[in-house]
Amino acid sequence: MPTSDEAGRRDAADPLATLREYFRLPADTVYLDGNSLGALAAHIPERLSRVLTREWGDTLIGAWTEHDWWSAPLRVGDRVGRLIGASPGQVTVGESTSVQLFNALAGAARLRPGRDVILTDTGHFPTDRYLADSVARLLGMRVIAVPAAAAATAVAQWSGQVAVVALPAVDYRTGELWDVAATTAAAHAAGAVTVWDLCHAAGAVPLALDDDEVDIAVGCTYKYLGGGPGAPAFVYLARRHHDGYDPPLTGWHGHAAPFAMEPEFRPADGISRTRIGTPHVLSLLALDSALDVFDKADLAEVRAKSLALGDFFLDCVADLVSEDGFEVVTPRAHRRRGSQVALRHPAAYEMITALLERNVIGDMRPPDLLRFGFNALYVSFRDVYRAAGELRDIVRSGCYRDERFAVRRLIT
Ligand SMILES: *Cc1c(COP(=O)(O)O)cnc(C)c1O
Repeated sequence: MPTSDEAGRRDAADPLATLREYFRLPADTVYLDGNSLGALAAHIPERLSRVLTREWGDTLIGAWTEHDWWSAPLRVGDRVGRLIGASPGQVTVGESTSVQLFNALAGAARLRPGRDVILTDTGHFPTDRYLADSVARLLGMRVIAVPAAAAATAVAQWSGQVAVVALPAVDYRTGELWDVAATTAAAHAAGAVTVWDLCHAAGAVPLALDDDEVDIAVGCTYKYLGGGPGAPAFVYLARRHHDGYDPPLTGWHGHAAPFAMEPEFRPADGISRTRIGTPHVLSLLALDSALDVFDKADLAEVRAKSLALGDFFLDCVADLVSEDGFEVVTPRAHRRRGSQVALRHPAAYEMITALLERNVIGDMRPPDLLRFGFNALYVSFRDVYRAAGELRDIVRSGCYRDERFAVRRLIT
């Protein structure tokens, strides 16, 4: 079992330890839910305040040009692109993740006319599945869902019929990391295109979308990227598809000449055709500021630290796993793990709620998973040690069985 001294030594040797100072985190709180809502970078309020008063307040409509709000979806898109292995001009930011997913799935299907299958993951996030089902109904297609691990085999089996392979890069529950390169290659061998969901990967796991020849990818910006609640999503469209991409949601910001106010849609050249309508400028610029932190951090170091935190956590809870009925559902192997660790226990809800009372914030997914996210930008080894210690205390004391934890169950 690791000791508290060891946690301290690991923190002292951590090259990213100083990054925590860039965040506003409540004192005495261990935040292991940055995979759901990233923490606030402390400089964002001032930037937003300037945007509100100077840009909006003083400049009014002129801010679209004077402060170049107009290009913000492209500018911020390129900043996200650097974190996901996309060279400039292939990413825009705007709309919600669900809207972008809908658009991407329908747009991908249009790239493969005559094929009628959307292949997806049985464990995919609900919104991804609901949207795939709806796109399939709209376009006269059908959805085939298989476990993500079997996607490469399945696409070969339905070769010639699969238009779109829609998968997460990291499973939101188990934290498993899938092989983007190999699955994309399998999809291409079967003539399909890929729509990767990067919600639990962007900003945590180095990605190489260009090198892996990914077609389309979508991701949230309020998880590891720290853009804030409801921050707009990003969409990556590989350059080779730009000319042939027929955007399903034909909003005027994606028009070739938006201010000509033409009666018919003509898609813009390049990545701009993935734009839809007026973006949420305040959220977009909050995200722009949030990304400043990544300019100070090497994503390879972020990844290495996140894995080390996960390993340290698993070492700290090894006794609970062997003696107290927990199961580790996240693969231990680094190449198969994202940036969170999930434990299975029938009393997951009660335990997470009991942890909350002790200022250790993790979360749970039904029916029985405890999720702990390790955002390397602000989580320390001491945090992990404390979280594991509190969990042990809650389990060994049995206090999680107290009624006050049961009443907060989110589902029945
Ligand atoms: C977080 C998450 C979403 C969220 O979609 P919203 O439209 O932002 O609510 C979608 N898909 C996956 C895989 C996620 O992890």
